[in-house]
Amino acid sequence: MFLRVLCGQNKLMTGNSAKLAVIGAGPGGYAAAFLAADLGMKVTLIDQESNPGGVCLYRGCIPSKALLHVAKLIEEAHQAKNWGIEYSDPKIDVAQLRFWKEGVVKKLTGGLGQLSKQRKVEYIQGRAGFENSNTLRVSRTHGSEESHTFDRIIVATGSRPAVLPSLKLNMPRMMDSTSALDLSDVPSTLLVVGGGYIGLELGTVYAALGTKVSVVEMLPGLLPGADRDLVLPLHKRMEKILDSILLNTTVASVKEESRGIRVTFDGPEVKERERLFEKVLVSVGRKPNSEIPGLEKTQVRVGERGFIQVNKQLQSDDPNIYAIGDVVGEPMLAHKASHEGRTAVEAIAGHKVAFEPNAIPAVVFTDPEIAWCGLTETQAQKEGREIKVARFPWAASGRAMTLDRTEGVTKLVIDPKSERVLGIGITGVGAGEMIAEGVLAIEMGATATDIALSIHPHPTLSETIMEAAEVFFGTSTHVYRPKR
Ligand code: NAD
Repeated sequence: MFLRVLCGQNKLMTGNSAKLAVIGAGPGGYAAAFLAADLGMKVTLIDQESNPGGVCLYRGCIPSKALLHVAKLIEEAHQAKNWGIEYSDPKIDVAQLRFWKEGVVKKLTGGLGQLSKQRKVEYIQGRAGFENSNTLRVSRTHGSEESHTFDRIIVATGSRPAVLPSLKLNMPRMMDSTSALDLSDVPSTLLVVGGGYIGLELGTVYAALGTKVSVVEMLPGLLPGADRDLVLPLHKRMEKILDSILLNTTVASVKEESRGIRVTFDGPEVKERERLFEKVLVSVGRKPNSEIPGLEKTQVRVGERGFIQVNKQLQSDDPNIYAIGDVVGEPMLAHKASHEGRTAVEAIAGHKVAFEPNAIPAVVFTDPEIAWCGLTETQAQKEGREIKVARFPWAASGRAMTLDRTEGVTKLVIDPKSERVLGIGITGVGAGEMIAEGVLAIEMGATATDIALSIHPHPTLSETIMEAAEVFFGTSTHVYRPKR
């Protein structure tokens, strides 16, 4: 939970005129800048784009979700045959799709630009480097280079796609998440390297648009960070929509040919060692952007994996410099960054705060979606923690049945002694929306009884959370458990 001292919340111990710079205007940076302005600080927000938004809005969460929405629509139109409705195959106008996606991005980032102006945040389009712990050298994209001095500086520079030496991106047919989201065309075949968040989300999009997509993952399962029982329904559906899923496999080499990229695979289960793909998407993780010019002139410490080291107030080893978001560590998620940003600003304002969440939700926006928060079953097993797991299968949910999507599962990870809910995992349509209830339950210290006794609306998928709590007590209305 975030520790907050409520009295004096609106008083700035540093004085209302504190000058703050925020480097990077992603969901971490702009949330920090806006709160700081609301608290009365004089804020400068620096980013290379013309408006706030960062990777998430320009080339990440938002454009990918716009495309995933379209993918779901196409998929549902296919499925409608089962319900007595037949649509003809979709005609896809890629240019119009791109235009719509870019429109969404433009509206949102433009709106953030307006919010920034309304708050009187000085927005500088450019790049910043450190001259010392208080002074930044800022080169404007269109013009001058100048030095500015601040009382405090927040580094919110985010992350970039990781690259593998064997998979250089210097060929036009090789894509990272940014170029894949540009949607320059719809290739006939695509190899996705890395079966994580990005690979599966973008693989879903291209498969829906008509590409034959293969995913290669070096580990034994897709989404290695998630519990296996949550991944299973997605894996089964992915097997239907994808051309192939190659597990325990890596890419040994890639070679550009006139018709595509010739890929050589390596691994114990490889049947076809060489294959030709029109395009290859590399999505093997992200790296923090901590190589900021002049950072060595400050006391900021960068750890082994490139993450800036910070304390629970997000303050670095340099008392004037704070850092938040992807650049300080996993999970690299926008919502973690915004909360860290707001915590850092409150700390700067003199409030007693710490970033100590019990539950940061993770959502993979595939179809079905997978979402989890708090303690996972895998983590509990690794730590040797005693837990009980209560699972509610969506085959027993009336709402899931009406949607023809009964492959889902909702599970609670519960402390058997206190009966407190420690973790929640959901696979199924809408899991990403539902997980917020799990976050609230965990942060409020809810027990299985609290959840079981909270009346959930019928017929909804949210009832599966209530019924999972009932499963814990062996009294779920829609799951029969024979008496021993
Ligand atoms: P990821 O860590 O989710 O997945 C990378 C995958 O690549 C892993 O499964 C890993 O085992 C595999 N891999 C690594 N090297 C490989 C190799 N040589 N050959 C084959 N497989 C290999 O990373 P990502 O998908 O690139 O996404 C990066 C980050 O961006 C995520 O960790 C997440 O924090 C964030 N993100 C979040 C969302 C979301 O919230 N829905 C969506 C996209 C990205």
